[in-house]
Amino acid sequence: MVDKHLLLGDEALALGALHAGLSGVYAYPGTPSTEITEYIQRHPLTKERGIHCDWCTNEKTAMEAALGVSFAGKRALVCMKHVGMNVCADAFVNSAVTGANGGLVIAACDDPSQHSSQNEQDSRFYADFAMMPCFEPSNQQEAYDMVQEAFDYSEAYHIPVLMRLTTRMAHSRAVVRQAHQPAPENELHFPPKDRERFWVTLPGISRARVKELAEEQNKFRQDSESSGDNMYKDGPDHRLGIVTCGIAYNYLMENFLEGCKYPVLKVTRYPFPTELLKKMSGSCKTILVIEEGQPLIEEKLRGLLYDEYEGNGFVKVKGRLDGTLPRTGELNPDHVRNALGLEPLQAYAEARMTVPRPPALCQGCGHRDFYTALNAVLKRYEGAKVFGDIGCYTLGYMSPFNAIHSCVEMGASLTMAIGAANSGVWPSVGVIGDSTFTHSGMTGLLDAVNSKADITLCISDNLTTGMTGGQDSAGTGKLERICAAIGVEEDHTRTIVPLPKNYPEMEKVIEEEINYHGVSVVICRRECIQTAKRHAAAKNR
Ligand code: SF4
Repeated sequence: MVDKHLLLGDEALALGALHAGLSGVYAYPGTPSTEITEYIQRHPLTKERGIHCDWCTNEKTAMEAALGVSFAGKRALVCMKHVGMNVCADAFVNSAVTGANGGLVIAACDDPSQHSSQNEQDSRFYADFAMMPCFEPSNQQEAYDMVQEAFDYSEAYHIPVLMRLTTRMAHSRAVVRQAHQPAPENELHFPPKDRERFWVTLPGISRARVKELAEEQNKFRQDSESSGDNMYKDGPDHRLGIVTCGIAYNYLMENFLEGCKYPVLKVTRYPFPTELLKKMSGSCKTILVIEEGQPLIEEKLRGLLYDEYEGNGFVKVKGRLDGTLPRTGELNPDHVRNALGLEPLQAYAEARMTVPRPPALCQGCGHRDFYTALNAVLKRYEGAKVFGDIGCYTLGYMSPFNAIHSCVEMGASLTMAIGAANSGVWPSVGVIGDSTFTHSGMTGLLDAVNSKADITLCISDNLTTGMTGGQDSAGTGKLERICAAIGVEEDHTRTIVPLPKNYPEMEKVIEEEINYHGVSVVICRRECIQTAKRHAAAKNR
């Protein structure tokens, strides 16, 4: 039986995980990864089997919960965008030390060109330094097939596996063939006797495990060479060899519909397949590396080929580092044509004629009313600084609001406000959303309370995770109690409704709390109008 499905890369990975016998998905929403969890949430098998699929408070809690599932012998998937890897890095790196019991796969979706991100870091580096295998599909079918291989591999070698997608892979659609029925879930079972100690990372234990992990790298590499996922295909013209991976493989092959005339090494699994590279480097004097993201393969090749030829410069490596391809940003077929010395194609030029639309807060959004009131108040103070955070409300930086002075990463609003207040800035105001507050803001608020910082934190509470499409927000209905539990005085935790008719009251409350010399919190609560519309439509159905 072969079933066909038309799926996004994210969805193909999700379906593959379900068909591999998944018991739980743990995730925090973030573009371009969100659709993996959403697909699992709405798939009938999830309900039928009772697969766990709630959103987590942040990527670290997601990673740790999944590690618990793996400890219990079942299969777990963790999903996040690339910067989420920073949040869960402690758990992620240490999970290579504990190892996996039930299969554990971490899906990280990178965002080159930063369509919706503050940087374009490359998650493959995390796998590299954690000494963890990394799988990188180059099409939707591979995403479906390889996640199942990743679960098997994770269990066979007691190691979590990172799966890396990039934006265009995650968000483009293709037919995926399903060749077998979904596998059953694993039964509850605990780590075998000879491995159970590795789950306690006391130095005396984990030292032995880290040594074992380092020794296992050769085995991982040999598997990577022989798996059949990494593919070397010879071509008649050996003036150039091409090493490529992920979506970039497609950009290359679009230029060679009858087959590439140059030898090509397609990398879909890491550690990097050095023996396959040798097939190419033995005959090609120039190697072009085409990879989406940062030049990880290119840097490795320079080292590997230096070893092979003792630095005599025999093989020339070209790619992002020497300017053959752009150093940053997404690649496209024209970049690849240019690197191959081919003329740009008119079709790509036309595709790029779409006029980009700058992002803006939706008309009627409560963040608009909040910023209008905040700006009106802050006009009355000289030297006020506003530290923003990650969410729709980051757009408060844009005209007509021009309301924030910083936005760095999840939770940095109030901790930067603390530092600035310590340095003499007043008023020092933090602006954070409800989901970002529970993700990474609560610990900062405890710092503020403990140090009696003179700050005002505005939580713009839209009752959802608005920027990624309206997923549940962990703090909904709990923010006042969280603030009280952390130690913010009840009199200085104020709640307002951001609407034009309330501007006088909003300004009064914000001004009073700025004038209070201690920690104050102003919660501006009105539901995101997009989720409000969806909720209303659902009610009327
Ligand atoms: S999605 Fe919701 S929170 Fe975001 S700008 Fe639109 S209305 Fe505001």
